[in-house]
Amino acid sequence: MDLILKNISLFAGENLEYIENGYIVIKNGRIEKVGTGKYTGKSNMNTFEGRGILVIPGFINAHTHIGDSIGKDIGVDSTFESRIHPVHGIKNKILKRSEKKHLVNFMRSSIISMMKKGIVAFADFREGGLYGIKQITEATAGLSIKSIILGRPEHYYDISRDFNKNPKIPQDVMESIHSILDISDGLGISGANENTDNSLNEYRNIIQKRSLKKKYLLGIHASESPETEKKSITVTGKSEVQRIISNLLPNFVVHLTNALDIDIRLVAQKKIGIVVCPRANATLGVGIPKIAKMLKFGCRVAIGTDNIMINSPDMFRELDYIWKVTRTIGDGAISAKEILKMATVNGGKILGIKSGSLLAGMSADMIFIDKTNLDISPMHDPHVSIVHRASANSILNVMISGKFVDEDEFNCM
Ligand SMILES: [Zn+2]
Repeated sequence: MDLILKNISLFAGENLEYIENGYIVIKNGRIEKVGTGKYTGKSNMNTFEGRGILVIPGFINAHTHIGDSIGKDIGVDSTFESRIHPVHGIKNKILKRSEKKHLVNFMRSSIISMMKKGIVAFADFREGGLYGIKQITEATAGLSIKSIILGRPEHYYDISRDFNKNPKIPQDVMESIHSILDISDGLGISGANENTDNSLNEYRNIIQKRSLKKKYLLGIHASESPETEKKSITVTGKSEVQRIISNLLPNFVVHLTNALDIDIRLVAQKKIGIVVCPRANATLGVGIPKIAKMLKFGCRVAIGTDNIMINSPDMFRELDYIWKVTRTIGDGAISAKEILKMATVNGGKILGIKSGSLLAGMSADMIFIDKTNLDISPMHDPHVSIVHRASANSILNVMISGKFVDEDEFNCM
């Protein structure tokens, strides 16, 4: 549906400039024009009267594992490794022992929950090999949310045992990686400690080779906990980031919560994106990412909500937490506008999708906020209001690819 949104307030462009009274022209699911004041062009398009509404870019949840939606809060007091380690963690046992139908249903519930909370795109690290990709494809069927699925083979090393031997990935696993890439958007690798230098190199080569025909993404977890970082340095003599940069060169790294300053600088130099997951880190008690420092060093930083098992897929809560916690940890406060960019513009750029800002040429993905909502009115500082007062309750509508999201879409399975 082509549409002109009139008399709206909005956060325009990549700098999220606040416009008190403006308009957005939407054609064929894309934003054609964004402007200030009254729309004066001639048009026979449908119009949407937007008085009292603030339109903001839809949220990009740049890191999730929705596959574990069935395991919410199981083992909450267990250690980091015993909860989410890909081989011997509780999570892995839950996934293996649950019925496929239940797993898919709860995954779909998480996706619908994200859409209701203004998330228009998400990037999922999907475990379970080819079978795992098929499950998430089933869970997203008929939903307009943009899903970026990064798969991986169920094949892990342990650097304590394998680092010196440095084995290559066996041929049958290499073949399974190709099958995964045939139906996904790239690879989401567990971490440097679960890989030899050779296996990281092979992941890089396979992506580079296939990227000649189609663009793929390569992401990996790094420096999530003090223990994983310590293990890397003790066993290999290098930090996780150093090994990742020498052997993998991904598009983005997830976490960097316990990364050294020198590593954060290296990531900035190599123009590798960072996806931080501060509330998930807090649940696991592994630290608070030094986001102000990352931004100061010139990194591009986006936000993810990480495992559903340990955290809710709610970007409003993430914004609120980041705004407050970064004001207390002493490496500098971050403005509400910068934090909002992390949840929108930066996520779109890191994932290479035309979403995340209200700008001509972008997909019409946006959230309609009720400015008269009890929690946020009167809105004296719109960026701050969205970051630490707004919630799903403040949303009137969510639009993805130019269409309003409605309940019919959720029942289409
Ligand atoms: Zn993760």
